[in-house]
Amino acid sequence: AAQEGFDPEEVEGALDEAGHGPLPVLAVVGRPNVGKSTLVNRIIGRREAVVQDKPGVTRDRVSYEAEWAGRRFKVVDTGGWEQDVLGLDASVAAQAEYAIETADAVVFVVDSTVGATDTDEAVVKLLRRAGKPVVLCANKVDGQSGEADATALWSLGLGEPYPVSSLHGRGTGDMLDAVLEALPEAPAQKFGTALGGPRRIALIGRPNVGKSSLLNKVAGEDRVVVNELAGTTRDPVDELINLGGITWKFIDTAGIRRRVHLQEGADYYASLRTAAAVEKAEVAVILIDSSESISVQDQRIVTMAVEAGRAVVVAFNKWDTLDEERRYYLEREIETELAQISWAPRVNVSAVTGRHMEKLVPAIETAIEGWETRVPTGRLNAFLGEIVAAHPHPVRGGKQPRILFGTQAGTKPPRFVLFASGFLEHGYRRFIERRLREEFGFEGTPIHISVRVRE
Ligand code: GDP
Ligand code: GDP
Repeated sequence: AAQEGFDPEEVEGALDEAGHGPLPVLAVVGRPNVGKSTLVNRIIGRREAVVQDKPGVTRDRVSYEAEWAGRRFKVVDTGGWEQDVLGLDASVAAQAEYAIETADAVVFVVDSTVGATDTDEAVVKLLRRAGKPVVLCANKVDGQSGEADATALWSLGLGEPYPVSSLHGRGTGDMLDAVLEALPEAPAQKFGTALGGPRRIALIGRPNVGKSSLLNKVAGEDRVVVNELAGTTRDPVDELINLGGITWKFIDTAGIRRRVHLQEGADYYASLRTAAAVEKAEVAVILIDSSESISVQDQRIVTMAVEAGRAVVVAFNKWDTLDEERRYYLEREIETELAQISWAPRVNVSAVTGRHMEKLVPAIETAIEGWETRVPTGRLNAFLGEIVAAHPHPVRGGKQPRILFGTQAGTKPPRFVLFASGFLEHGYRRFIERRLREEFGFEGTPIHISVRVRE
């Protein structure tokens, strides 16, 4: 009866949407200045701070949600590369490599006013070898007269070049139609593949927090990372590691080791790899260096894991170095700087002494449990009824929005849809989330709450 006023199809649509698993990923690659960021902005339909005046400035974010013709997907912008560090060809090749590893489809952007360069040709080779679907964007075709330049790009052998003006929007619709055809309905990497399979863990954190030390400690091997040359060892990207009697898959362990050699200025590369690892993982173990102040970079990594909807464990590493004073300030910092994951299980470890290594697995298991929790609809609504009665939404403009009913549309992470008689204020939504956590746990997992308002 509570569903009265809602079209059953609308309810179902909302549940589908909220219950979606990971979205398919589209990577936008190409040389600097061909217009990748402009195109990404066009696709996501927002003027987010993607395009910037200064080249080479590290961007906070690399991945954005987009929607075209009713389908949602993720767009990864590889445009923030710091090419000074690696040189043009290496940086563009690394972008392509990243795209190949992580994306379900690729948009390859070429500046049609320049034509195909040697660098473009090199990327084409990489893309072709990877076998991922590629849509060729002949960018900067601002008017009819540019069409011929676009046609010339047939020579790349990637099929039809789509003439596009990312700046003005011309031709982007046709290109996005082609993108949708290239993208799978659901990403290739599905959760819960078959029944189980090893759980996938991304060990993430800024450089020098101790990721490779921890990895070596838990893997029970003493690899001498610093002497390994990038690309010389054919490490498998992911590694199976037995912990606490359970086999886990650690994602992109090769990247954890390799990154050591990229040194200064490779932040953007690190953040691409982190995003890719998080994308593939179920659980993010976020390492924080407890001997140093919690930084903006730490927070970005936290945000990445939360926005990706992963189960989260926070490990405060280098615990062996702490004195009383630092410990005091650390606790204050955690309260203020890591409030957004106050729900995450925490372990205080030392990769050097091995302190509390045995607590890692229980913390991971707790997080996975929260991540997979499903609250039966009956129980949820009994609970919602109670809190709505005890703590009604404040009256606004003479009206009092009410939650009519709710349901959990999905897990991994838990997603809820609330149906309401009016707009629910941010503060009230936060209150509901807090109460849901108090009631049902959800330790170690972000939870999503979307609200549908009856018109
Ligand atoms: P990125 O380095 O590949 O991300 O390139 P940007 O998106 O930063 O664009 C580089 C420059 O090309 C900027 O000055 C853009 O305004 C310009 N640009 C991008 N797309 C177009 C387009 O379709 N037409 C024209 N005329 N300029 C464009
Ligand atoms: P990564 O860049 O995150 O992989 O960090 P590394 O594992 O390379 O560690 C960076 C530095 O921190 C190295 O000098 C390590 O020996 C040191 N380190 C890592 N973990 C600990 C720890 O628990 N205690 C102390 N004292 N030092 C650590």
